[in-house]
Amino acid sequence: MGFLDRLRQGLSRTTQQLLGRFDELVQQADTEDQRSRPVEVETVEALEELLLSADVGVAATERIVTAVRGRSRRGESLRDLVKGEIRAVFAGTAPPSADGLHPRVILIVGVNGTGKTTTVGKLANLLKASGQRPLVCAADTFRAAAVEQLQIWATRAGVDIVRAKDGSDPAAVVFDAIQTGRSLGCDPILVDTAGRLHNRVNLMHELDKIRRVAARAAEGAPHEVLLVLDATVGQNGLQQAKEFTTVAGVTGVVLTKLDGTAKGGVAVAIAHDLKLPILYVGVGEGIDDLIPFSSDEYVDALFQEKW
Ligand code: GDP
Repeated sequence: MGFLDRLRQGLSRTTQQLLGRFDELVQQADTEDQRSRPVEVETVEALEELLLSADVGVAATERIVTAVRGRSRRGESLRDLVKGEIRAVFAGTAPPSADGLHPRVILIVGVNGTGKTTTVGKLANLLKASGQRPLVCAADTFRAAAVEQLQIWATRAGVDIVRAKDGSDPAAVVFDAIQTGRSLGCDPILVDTAGRLHNRVNLMHELDKIRRVAARAAEGAPHEVLLVLDATVGQNGLQQAKEFTTVAGVTGVVLTKLDGTAKGGVAVAIAHDLKLPILYVGVGEGIDDLIPFSSDEYVDALFQEKW
């Protein structure tokens, strides 16, 4: 199965909820007779409800609905109008900078249970399959189990790993991983960080220290900071995301567990509210279940006509 089919399958719980009703609305609003008129109030309200139920979020829904209310007399179809507006939301997110520095150091951050360690394993596998030679770094020294889990993923993906010894300093492990990666010719270095310490302030201090030490080991590091968000948490993940974004300098999002939720519209809320690009989505627990995100494919899969 290609990426697009897997995305569609991953989004199936969301589309099951959305599609029947959306098709009905579109049919009513897009008849020859209706196309040249403003969209009816009831249709707009039903659309609003539908978007909110898929967790598109209040602000992004408002933006889409405003565009629909203002449907011009050019005869745009409601389907195209909605799809176009969502695409525009994604177009407003900044892509990661291409500064040309190597090896790339990529920190993976997020709250425990969101799928961080799994994502590091899957991402290592994906990058290796595309011809790169990633190294994974287990810097969650707070949880021995996380180090063991990452070891299993590294073995599965067939990539090098630098792991923390119990109680060692996470920043020192990251420094070691960058040096080791350089000497082995590995690029990028994927760093699995802790998702919880004794308290939030400690966690943010630790991330800050990792950033400073990484910068000493490699110019411009960390080059990317990927925030892992669990789609099943929906809107509630956004507040978490805001905190990480401020402190950890997040540059992009990985949205996991899209397969387990009807709230797949949360991708739109993330792009709209956080202005962060979504780079990958998780659609299952297997090693191949991470796919590069394409907003066009996502919008097509969300409002597909028939497939
Ligand atoms: P961490 O605590 O953030 O490192 O989270 P883990 O990587 O340990 O993952 C927590 C749970 O989420 C595990 O049971 C994973 O198998 C599961 N998981 C991670 N990503 C996905 C995904 O994309 N889809 C599904 N269905 N489960 C996932």
